[in-house]
Amino acid sequence: MRRLSDNRIEIEPYDPCYCGGDKRVKFCHPVRNGQIQRPSASNCKPPGPPTGIARAGCYAAQLNDCSDEMSGEHLFSEAVLNLLVGADGKVVRAGYPWQEEGEFQSLTPATCKANVLCKRHNNALSRLDSTAGTFLRAILKTPEFLQNHDLRVLILSGDDLERWILKTLCTHILVTRKFGENWKPPLDWLEILWGMKPFPEGCGLYFNHEVGQSTPDTAKLALHVLTCNGIVGASGAIVELAAHRFALAMVPPNPQQTSDSALVSKFYRPSDFVITCGKREVVYSFGWEASVVPRRIGISWAPNP
Ligand SMILES: [Zn+2]
Ligand SMILES: [Zn+2]
Repeated sequence: MRRLSDNRIEIEPYDPCYCGGDKRVKFCHPVRNGQIQRPSASNCKPPGPPTGIARAGCYAAQLNDCSDEMSGEHLFSEAVLNLLVGADGKVVRAGYPWQEEGEFQSLTPATCKANVLCKRHNNALSRLDSTAGTFLRAILKTPEFLQNHDLRVLILSGDDLERWILKTLCTHILVTRKFGENWKPPLDWLEILWGMKPFPEGCGLYFNHEVGQSTPDTAKLALHVLTCNGIVGASGAIVELAAHRFALAMVPPNPQQTSDSALVSKFYRPSDFVITCGKREVVYSFGWEASVVPRRIGISWAPNP
């Protein structure tokens, strides 16, 4: 893998695969015609005709396409939580409304569950979980990549990542009863999640990090609910994946928004997110269904002293 003088990246058959898996390109996603296809959004429609069932307790019941069985939905996807377990097989949880200030709970990922979706609706979103898992796994390995390789490229679906944040936001609002017992996601959100419509203009993923700054190594995951004046319920979320912050807008930011807000238009739906350490770089390339303005967002990383 190397950067050519015209800034393109050349990938060779024996490079580690750009999908984030452990295999070499040749045995995983061979490059055809010299072009890597950026991934498209996963299909999240439940299979077959709608069931006509609205299962009480499933937050997507309004779509009348539930199964009878409920599923145990993880607060964050299991694939993601499993990446954060310590030597004792547990994750540490803090900051939930039922916890005291500064209180930590040590839990196995299997117990971080909520029953908020039916099986059918939950299963249909499983690809979003794997996209988020792949991304976090690569993010956690970034320091290792930067210490051992000159260049690493990973591609992922930006559409999947933003819908994963939306799904995680819904679970968190329900579990924490942030907006009371009776809050249900707006119909729009459900239609976006299960692939019936795209995010409205200006909504979706924003990178939310001071560009140019070096980031510390942390294995953490967090979600903050965003609210704004005049909007009932949430207007979006900020998710922290290790040291990186991504915001999800469910209400388009207003044009007067200042640069210190969570949503800065020049950080909307990046095409490339690049982490550098000296001359070495890790490039995360996002695929988007909508046409996006090519935006390259760069931050640097330095080993902990
Ligand atoms: Zn691959
Ligand atoms: Zn359902």
